[in-house]
Amino acid sequence: MTEIIPLPGTHCRYWCIDRCLYKIRLNPGLERDVCCQVLERLEHCFDDHVLRCECFGLSAEKSGLIWKQRMRQVLEGVWDCPDYQVTGDLDQDHVCAHLFEDICLLRLPRCSGRCRYFELWIK
Ligand code: SF4
Ligand code: SF4
Repeated sequence: MTEIIPLPGTHCRYWCIDRCLYKIRLNPGLERDVCCQVLERLEHCFDDHVLRCECFGLSAEKSGLIWKQRMRQVLEGVWDCPDYQVTGDLDQDHVCAHLFEDICLLRLPRCSGRCRYFELWIK
């Protein structure tokens, strides 16, 4: 029997570097297991930071300045993830190539080619 090969999903609105965003677009914010683990850890650090600043009675301004510095150190340093890959984009020197919004593309399924959820991406 002849095997049917689907057309590529590259022009689908859910397509992103060969990964399928359909599930996460359906449940925005709910699919936490697809988030970048480095950014997730940073989020937890932020919660700790806010609590600590409250304990020490720091102003929001002072607290914000300290956090900005801390965030820069983490994001511009070595990303603590075995799958981290440098983008090669000079403007985004330290950002991981697999990062899309706050999502790790490696945690999404691959696009299987045009499927029944395919929607043409129109600019
Ligand atoms: S591969 Fe990149 S985007 Fe994915 S979790 Fe690691 S650092 Fe985050
Ligand atoms: S064609 Fe289907 S599998 Fe591919 S990105 Fe679109 S919705 Fe996902």
